Amino acid sequence: SVRHPISLARAVMEHSPHVMLQGEGAETFAGEQGLETVPPAFFFTERRWASLEGELGRLGLPIPHRPEGAPDPEPVDEGALLRDSREHRFGTVGVVALDTDGNIAAGTSTGGTTAKRWGRVGDSPILGAGTYANNESCGVSATGTGEYFIRLTVASRICALVEFEGLALQTAADRVIQDELTAMGGDGGIVALTPGGEIAWSFNTPGMYRARLSAGGEPLVAIYGDEE
Ligand code: ASP
Repeated sequence: SVRHPISLARAVMEHSPHVMLQGEGAETFAGEQGLETVPPAFFFTERRWASLEGELGRLGLPIPHRPEGAPDPEPVDEGALLRDSREHRFGTVGVVALDTDGNIAAGTSTGGTTAKRWGRVGDSPILGAGTYANNESCGVSATGTGEYFIRLTVASRICALVEFEGLALQTAADRVIQDELTAMGGDGGIVALTPGGEIAWSFNTPGMYRARLSAGGEPLVAIYGDEE
C-alpha cells in the first residue's frame, strides 16, 4: 500500500490529467511515480484492530485472522476520547494550510469508518465532500461518518456560503455542521480557513482531536468540545 496517500493525491493532481484514481489503478500509478509503498501490516495498530473486532462482533460478522506481519497482541490504549467513553470512531488526519502567497491547500487521510463494506468509498478523497480548497473562498478538511458529508457536500458547501453568501467562516461552518449535518443525523466535524487567515472548526461530536497555529502565534491543541 502507498505509505502517504496525500502525496499520491498530489501526484495525481500534478502528474496526470485526472482528479481521482482509486484501487489498483491508483497503486499502479503510485509505483510509476516512485512513491513509497509499505506492506499493509505497516498500518496495523492494536487500537484499530480491537475496535474492528468489537464492531464486527456487534454486527455478528466473522472476525478475520490477525493480518500477516502484525505485531504480537498487546494491551490496548483507546486514546483519550474512548478512554473517557466520549465516543469517537474516526481515524482521520486532516489539514488545511495557507501560504504567504495566499494559496490554500487541504488534505485528508483516513482508514475510513470501522467495519465498512469492501469497496466502500468515504468522503475524505471526494473533493467537495470531505476535502476542498479554493483560493477565493476557503479550505476545509472533514472527519465523521462520510456518507453524510458526501450527501451534503459539506466542504464545498461551507466555502460556497463564505464566497456567495458572504458568511463569516465560523458562521458558515456552524450552519453546515451544527444545523444541516445534525438535522440529517450525521456526525463529525471540520477544520477550515480562509485566504484572509480566518480559522474555524466545528463539530457535533463530544470531541475532535484538533490543533491550530498561525505565524507568530501560539499553537492551540484541544480534544473535547468544551475546551478552547
Ligand atoms: N470521514 C471518514 C470516512 O467516512 C471517516 C473518518 O473520519 O475517519 O471514511
